[in-house]
Order: sequence, then C-alpha cells, then structure tokens
Amino acid sequence: MEHLIFIFLIGLCAGSFANVCIYRLPKRKQVLFGRSYCPKCKKKIKWFDNIPVISFFLLNGKCRSCKKKISLQYFIIELLIGTGFLLIFLNYQNYFASILLSILLVMYVMIFFIDFKHFIIPDVLNFGVIFLAFFKNFLPDLTLVFTQNIILSIIGGIVGYSLIWIIIYLYRTFKKVEGMGLGDAKLMAGIGLLFGWPSVPFVLFVSAVLGLLLVMPSLLKKKRSLKSEIPFGPYIITAGVIYFFFGEYLYNFILI
Ligand SMILES: [Zn+2]
Repeated sequence: MEHLIFIFLIGLCAGSFANVCIYRLPKRKQVLFGRSYCPKCKKKIKWFDNIPVISFFLLNGKCRSCKKKISLQYFIIELLIGTGFLLIFLNYQNYFASILLSILLVMYVMIFFIDFKHFIIPDVLNFGVIFLAFFKNFLPDLTLVFTQNIILSIIGGIVGYSLIWIIIYLYRTFKKVEGMGLGDAKLMAGIGLLFGWPSVPFVLFVSAVLGLLLVMPSLLKKKRSLKSEIPFGPYIITAGVIYFFFGEYLYNFILI
C-alpha cells in the first residue's frame, strides 16, 4: 500500500514538472532551474504554495498575491499523471514496462497540451520519444503491444515520418497551404518506432477521422475554413492511445 501512495506522489510531482514544461518550452525558457512564478502577476511562488494538487485546494484556486484564478489545467494535469502512474504500476508487473510507460505518459501529455495551445511540438520532446521508442527494442521482453523487433520498429519510424512528409508535400504543392508540420512527422515516427510499421496506417486513419469529426461542427458553422491551421498532434496521440489499448484486437478483427 505504501509504495502505491509513493508512486502516486511521484506521479503528482511529474505532473507538476509537466506543467512547468508546458508553460516554458514553447517560450524557449529552460525548464530545470528558476523558481515558478504566477503567470499573471509575475510574483515568485513560495514553495508551500507550489505543492501539487494540495496547494490548489489550500489557495482555493487563486494566486496568493494577485488573487487571480490559477488555471484548472495545472490541477488536471497533475491529477492525470498521478493517476496514470498509479494505474500503470497496478496493471504492469514488469518494472521496465511500467517505467517506460510512465515516462511516455509524461512526454505525450506535454506534447498534447503544447501542440493544442501553441500549434508546435518542441523537438526536445519528439526526439525524447524517438530515443525511448528505439531504446525499448533492447530491453528485456516488455509484454506490451509495443514491438521489440528492431526491423519492424525502424521501418515503422521511417514509414511514419515519410507518410506525413508526403502529405505535407502534397498539401504544399496542390493546395498551397501548410496542413501539418514536420513536428507531426517526427511524432508519427515515434509512434511507428514504438508499435512497428503496421500501426502507422491505423493511427494516421484514426487521427484524420478524429480531426475531421472535431473540426466538422465549426466547419458547418463556417467559423473556420479547411485552410485554417489545426493542431494535429493531439489527434495522433489520441489515435496512438486507442492503438495501445485496442490495436491488436482491431487488427485481428480486420484480418479475420
Ligand atoms: Zn498572481
């Protein structure tokens, strides 16, 4: 029991770190040093006001000095990653698998929110995922849906990157717009490296469907044209999560 509480607390701290990165990485600020400050009044936040989740409640969701509201996003991300860590360690007895999944969770949460808000994916995160996704091929059997076959994995990375690259190229040539960015290509390379190449068409298809479904309402209301930029990263990540849980099942279903 104690170790589960410990893992949950580590998860909350990782969530707190993710919040710092989500705020600072798009602004090209370094993330490891420098005290946190209130984004509204710029006052430094005291350590006792910076405790994950608890401080949010004690402060009633408001900054101590300027009394402006603290974004609920901080609280949600801390809780999401804390709970995620707990569920991962409860479900996977394999320590390598648990640690790998926990780090991937933190990185993908960061990419999801940064791309959602700023329409960019910092290279440091994409390359971090790509490194992990390659490195896991050399770990002992993880018994996860991830492939650990180096060839499948590398081809997956190349196919993932190339497919998005081709889509970008076609968009640029025929529609003269930037549909996606190279950040999305690197993100898809990471997915291909993790799951192997058969996952790439699936993830691409599901993310496109998700993107269309979510953009459709505003297209119909003519608030947005197909030309306006949409962050594609969150859809790729969501499709990757769907593949993680149901990929093998879906492929068996299709192949039967
Ligand atoms: Zn403030």
